[in-house]
Amino acid sequence: MNNNSSIAEATQVALIKSTTSKDAVLEGISKLGGISKFVKEGDLVFIKINLRNPGGFPTNTNFDVISSVISLCTDAGAKEIYVGSFPDQHVKIKALADALDLQTLFKKCRAKLLLLDDEAKYSQEIINLNNKEFKVPSAILRCDKIISINQVNVDPVFACTLNLLNSYSIVSNEAQQIKKDLRVGRDYLHLDQYKKDLISNILAVFMIKKPDLVINDLFYVLEGAGPFNYKDSNLKKTSFMVIGNDAVAVDSITLRLLNIDISKQDLLMEARDKKIGIVDLSEIKLIGEDIDKNKLDIKFCASKLEDVTVKNTDIKKGRLCSGCFNQAYHLLNLMKSKMTKDLKYIERQSLLIGEKPHEPEFLENILIFGDCAINSTKDRTFRKIVIEKGKNLIEKAKNKIKKEKKKKSKSKTKIISNKQILELPGCPPDILKCVSSIIKYYGKDEVPGLNLYYNLISTYVDFKKIEAKKK
Ligand code: SF4
Repeated sequence: MNNNSSIAEATQVALIKSTTSKDAVLEGISKLGGISKFVKEGDLVFIKINLRNPGGFPTNTNFDVISSVISLCTDAGAKEIYVGSFPDQHVKIKALADALDLQTLFKKCRAKLLLLDDEAKYSQEIINLNNKEFKVPSAILRCDKIISINQVNVDPVFACTLNLLNSYSIVSNEAQQIKKDLRVGRDYLHLDQYKKDLISNILAVFMIKKPDLVINDLFYVLEGAGPFNYKDSNLKKTSFMVIGNDAVAVDSITLRLLNIDISKQDLLMEARDKKIGIVDLSEIKLIGEDIDKNKLDIKFCASKLEDVTVKNTDIKKGRLCSGCFNQAYHLLNLMKSKMTKDLKYIERQSLLIGEKPHEPEFLENILIFGDCAINSTKDRTFRKIVIEKGKNLIEKAKNKIKKEKKKKSKSKTKIISNKQILELPGCPPDILKCVSSIIKYYGKDEVPGLNLYYNLISTYVDFKKIEAKKK
């Protein structure tokens, strides 16, 4: 623990271990000087939470932690307390709030849930960043104080869901998407330009309204196949919470606690280089537990798609960027979680992904994922099937039994398109559109598990938008 008094008081992080998540957050804020250090009487406070989908605990921020922070803000004399976030792609906030009964919960605490995607109710300001327009809800911009409460789970692209990522969802999921922008002389895939552009946008949006108080809740963590509740996800109790006044510092302490090499975390390195926050331990006043004595052993996401083993599914990869990697990671985990029975009867399928993927071993059920894979396999042999005209199948079987030598056939051949191919376009593809296309390709009766999942999510997903976008 670094308690050197010569370190600037400006950046403080409390590393807290406790018996309940509520106690941990209360103790952490108290150790940082109490809530009055962050919230003053009459302040308008916005609490930025994770509100991704109703996929079970701990996909979203723990509601015990949120209500504890709301109570503290009320005690500090906050005038109004708002809570909110933009959810995952296609998820409607109102439907999500109804599913989790959030409006009642927050009303009880005297806070208000903002339905940020209701543009008729909540006006948005357009802010130009990185040559892109971002609509940011005015309700967030006019708040005096921002508190970011982030649930930490493992993540396939950023190792874990950091607080900087939580700040990104003050803009809609649509605005968060990265548009492929090719630069002359730069290899988009080799440089992983997708991830570079994503990091640049995350940091730009973060700077719009930096949070005053930052909480990384890893009291419970989804490890293995997180950040959602997949078949291979595992809930782990660590009893830790990391709280501070600088999101970058809080994230850097969180990563160190998880035993991750910070120098390989490009999001944090970019934040340091742009002087957005503090990364170096020597510049952070660390309060509470000793980080070196409390390193956590967490199982992270598979770093290779081939390691997400899905029954009867063969993955053929080419060159790809983080965009397709992330989406394919989620699609494969979704298949593994929701198609367990379906894949027992689909004897084999191949998923081709990235530029110039390897050849599939079989000609049936070839799923081609993403524009790079689709465009670079247009002339491949698997796209055509050679059939012999007028072939007598019974005769063929008899010959096989008698092991007769095949006579040279004069039958003509015909080349037709392989119909057992499903293209899943996008750069990168949209997961729910992929699920919808896979159901149509196999037929509802062939994939009842996946179809049931699709019907269940209709309670909170805007399907009309998905279907409209497919046209
Ligand atoms: S199609 Fe996929 S791999 Fe290709 S550039 Fe787009 S996101 Fe990257």
